[in-house]
Amino acid sequence: MSNTPEGMARAVLEACADCDICRYLMEDTPCLVFPELYRLYDKEVEKKGGITPEELRRLVELCNFCALCPCPNIRADIMKAKHAFIQREGLKPSIRLLEDVERVAKICGAYPRLANLLLQSKWAAPLVKGVAGIHADRKVPSFPEESFPAWARARGLHLLKEKSRRKVAFFAGCTGQHLFPDVPRAAVEVLEHNSIEVYVPEQKCCGMPSLLEGDRELTLEFAAFNADKLSKAVDAGCDIVCSCPTCGYLLKQVLSEGACHSLEHRATCGSLSDDVSRQPSVFGTTPAQAVEEKRTVFKGLFRDEGYFASLDPQKRLKIANHTHDLGEYLLTLHRSGELSTRLGPVSGHMVYYPPCHLREQKIGAPYMELLTLIPGISIEPIQGVFHCCGIAGIMGFKQDFHEISIAMGSRLMDHIKAIAPQKLVTDCLSCRIQFNQLLPYQVLHPIEILRESYLGRDGRV
Ligand code: SF4
Ligand code: SF4
Repeated sequence: MSNTPEGMARAVLEACADCDICRYLMEDTPCLVFPELYRLYDKEVEKKGGITPEELRRLVELCNFCALCPCPNIRADIMKAKHAFIQREGLKPSIRLLEDVERVAKICGAYPRLANLLLQSKWAAPLVKGVAGIHADRKVPSFPEESFPAWARARGLHLLKEKSRRKVAFFAGCTGQHLFPDVPRAAVEVLEHNSIEVYVPEQKCCGMPSLLEGDRELTLEFAAFNADKLSKAVDAGCDIVCSCPTCGYLLKQVLSEGACHSLEHRATCGSLSDDVSRQPSVFGTTPAQAVEEKRTVFKGLFRDEGYFASLDPQKRLKIANHTHDLGEYLLTLHRSGELSTRLGPVSGHMVYYPPCHLREQKIGAPYMELLTLIPGISIEPIQGVFHCCGIAGIMGFKQDFHEISIAMGSRLMDHIKAIAPQKLVTDCLSCRIQFNQLLPYQVLHPIEILRESYLGRDGRV
């Protein structure tokens, strides 16, 4: 049973029922998994019926990988169970289409006027959305005339120059590249304004949408491509910078999970070396024996069992160690006195929402510190960690998750409405889509505010 998808979902249920912490800890959060998990468990304990395979499947479907829960291994196990269901039952064609955000955006972006016309037309939109598995009520953003990759290529940013004191490999993310190109453009302009050379390597989706859908093959295909390009950029002296917190979370944390337990990594950091084995130890009587025994024992104890274990662990760790959130990177520059603070005023009362995957990077809210450098700015953050907009990338577009996603986000929306800001600021472009769906306020990425501020002072960026 434990290797079946139901068995894997059941193992999560039993672990959390046994621990019970999240019954109370997650009570006041938008997470839908734990209320359902404990409802199923209680129903079984009270002998009001066993847990059916359909209920176990539905349970894992409720997770949007928002990372609000305390145990990374539990949400990783939920994803593994989701993947096992998909491996056994296959992926719906509409999901296969939707999860490849880059492909959809490239197709629609080739004829943006036609795509926008169809998606805004009262008669054509339901048909197009129906074929793509998008809920009829979901507002789809307009496709821009020029994508970010086209803009970047026209400026020669796809070429890595040799001489530069500081250079970054910029990872823009699919939503920014193809739906909101003003955001990555603002990022490039702010970085260049601060004398940072920007290189835009060839890149694919970070893999989070397909990971959330349980499509491991596609996720690994994307991750392998990105790992290759990004590790080469690091070798060439670049820092990796992400303007999307979900891409940053995946590159920094999810991709490298388990990699430090790999034999390849431990061999390079000395835990399997002769030097270590010479120290007094319970292992072997000769150094060679000790090394061999250590290999045998540790190989069994610690293994790279992460979701991305089939990819080169050294590359995964290299990427994790060199990736920075854009706000984090700019704040580091500011703290070392290297960020221009020639900033002009920006008007309007603003609310800043720090997205889930930024919080999960545990770097605080770097943009709040940066934005408060702007003279006279009026901005307040959404306080408290248990908020989520609910969209979960493409999950919120799906016919069977749209309403759940709206319900998950309702608490945050009420909170923002009570403040009634003139502008809403967030670094997550998926959150922007949800805010555009549910709130009347203009939504901006913090980098767009910084760009506006530089422009206001110097008349150029
Ligand atoms: S997620 Fe972790 S803390 Fe929460 S119930 Fe499960 S095992 Fe316990
Ligand atoms: S990742 Fe989010 S949705 Fe999934 S179990 Fe944790 S808190 Fe719930």
